[in-house]
Formats: sequence, C-alpha cells, structure tokens
Amino acid sequence: MADQRNKGIAWTETTWNPIRGCTRVSEGCRHCYAERVAARFSGPGKPYEGLANMTKAGPRWTGEVRMVPEHLTDPLRWKRPRMVFVNSMSDLFHEELTFVDIAAIFGVMAAARQHTFQVLTKRPERARKFFEELPTLHSAAKSRAGAMLAKTHALLNETPALGVSWTKASARAPEAWPLANVWLGTSVEDQAAADERIPALLECPAAVRFVSYEPALSWVNFTHLPERSEEQYIDALRGETHWTKQHVAPRSGRNPRLDWIIVGGESGPGARPFDIRWARWTAEQCKAAGVACFVKQLGAQPTDPSQLGKAARLRLRDRKGGDPLEWPVDLRVREWPAVGPSPSEKPVGQ
Ligand code: SF4
Repeated sequence: MADQRNKGIAWTETTWNPIRGCTRVSEGCRHCYAERVAARFSGPGKPYEGLANMTKAGPRWTGEVRMVPEHLTDPLRWKRPRMVFVNSMSDLFHEELTFVDIAAIFGVMAAARQHTFQVLTKRPERARKFFEELPTLHSAAKSRAGAMLAKTHALLNETPALGVSWTKASARAPEAWPLANVWLGTSVEDQAAADERIPALLECPAAVRFVSYEPALSWVNFTHLPERSEEQYIDALRGETHWTKQHVAPRSGRNPRLDWIIVGGESGPGARPFDIRWARWTAEQCKAAGVACFVKQLGAQPTDPSQLGKAARLRLRDRKGGDPLEWPVDLRVREWPAVGPSPSEKPVGQ
C-alpha cells in the first residue's frame, strides 16, 4: 500500500515487504510510487520481474502479486523495537493473496511483539472479511492469534532455513485479540473513498485505527460518513452514529472510532495540487474530537486560495513540501495516537 511518493515516510521508521505487486484501485493510485519503483526493477532477474512493466502510458502493474518468503521473518531478526510500515510495495489485503497468506504475515507480527506494525490498505472491505473468517482458517487453533501462528508455522515449514527459531519466537506471541502491536489503516483521497473505506475499517478489530488522507485530492468530512441505512451517518472521529432526521442521537454503547489521521499532498512527477485548507480542516476536525492528527507534507503543488486568490501556489524550498518549518504555523501538527509508542521524532509546533 504505497501512496507515498518518496522514500522517507515521516510517520514510520522502517518498511517491511513480505509481498510484492499490486493493482490500481482508485484515483489515489494514479501516481503510485511502488508501481514506478517496481517497473524500474522489473528486468530479468530483478526483484519485480513479472510484476510491473514500463509501458507507453507509464509504469503499470501486471496484476501478479507474490509472497517473498525470504523476507517473511525479517522483523523477528530486528532486535530494536521500531515502527514498521507493512507492505509499502503492495497491499496486504490484495485479492490475489489468500487469507492463509495474510494470516501467515499476521503470525509474524504476533510473534515480533517488540515492534509496532502499521498496516495500510485501500481494501478494508477485504480486511473486514479476512478478520471475519480468521477463526475458520485453522480449526485446531484455540484463538485467532493461534490461527495466524499456525499458518506462519506451515509456511515456514515449506521454506526452511530462514535464520530464525520459529518455535522460540512464536512462544512469545500473545493470545490477546486484537493484537496490541498492529495498527490498521486505510488510505483515502476524497470523500467518495472515505465514504466507502472508513466504515469498513471501523468494522475491523485493531488496537489503533488510522486513515492516511494522502494524496489528498479534495475535501473530506470525517464526521459525516454513510451508515448502512440512508437515514443514518457515522461520525468516525467520535465513534457515533447519528440520525439525519432527528436531533443528534449517538448509538448506545461505545463504537469504534478513528485514532489517528495522517494528511498530505502529492509529490513527484505529475503531482496534483493540494489545497492546504484540506489539511487545516482535517486538523480542526481532529482537534474538536480529540483525535491525533499528523500533517505529513504539503506536496509539490501546495496552494492556499483563501489567502492569495485563485492561482495561489505556495513556493516551498522542500520539493515535497515536507519541511514543517516552511508551513503556516497552524499546520505544524504532528501528533501520535494515544496508544502505543512513538518514534523518536519530536512533535513540531502545537
Ligand atoms: S493500492 Fe497502493 S500499492 Fe496498490 S496501486 Fe494503489 S497506491 Fe499503489
């Protein structure tokens, strides 16, 4: 799941890619960084051979997606605890992967409990189905975490000599559910994507649920998303369902809500404009609801129509608009969700 256009990702510390390959889902994928890198390294004998091509229209995925067994257990070898972005070169919930493959990757995350894993997908509906079916994947397992570990074990038996003691590592895995060290997020670029993906994300079990609103392409209201019934809508920042035709009436009990929103503009070749008011409104919505907000970058084409008129392009020295010191002060917001550790980076501004 890679909508970042650069190698440095301010909200994580390292990437882990046990899967390679993807296909485009929506407008947010148009300038997919992963697709570009994959096409560059798709020649004979290269890591992305068969997964992407350079075409007349630019880089394109072929539709093939594959596991990379030699990287499956990488996090078990990393001793120092760190934030790990899972699958920057793919999407963990891609349709080409079986639920058994996905369970095996979750098994590694369960065993590598020293790390915090950030799973980001544009396919939260498939994630929802995966979690629903997880208990049926391994009938002998006593718990969902157990089902994942069993699948990882089976996969490692097929690919021995990966340099880790799986028995020792899996013994450290917790049985508690959902896994405390796995954050689950979805990417959205506009209101239509938010309307479709965020309600599905909220139905997935996760210690932390987050949204990457990048590349942001238009306004998104996180407090008014469609519920199943047309008469209701979800406030994803407060975990409430409201009735449109009545006074505000939160559904009884505590409902899942978003814990963290990352917002950013597009960078790289062909970057589309980013109205910095989209970030400002996101930060305001989060602040009003007590949800953490992380403004990642203003992108290569930041504009501020409210201050400067129609062609209000902001000129920034950083080509990705990633230096908070160049931003309006009110946008220097880099908060982390209340749960779990934060990387060493200190918050900037407020
Ligand atoms: S889902 Fe992510 S990795 Fe896949 S094509 Fe879209 S942006 Fe790229």
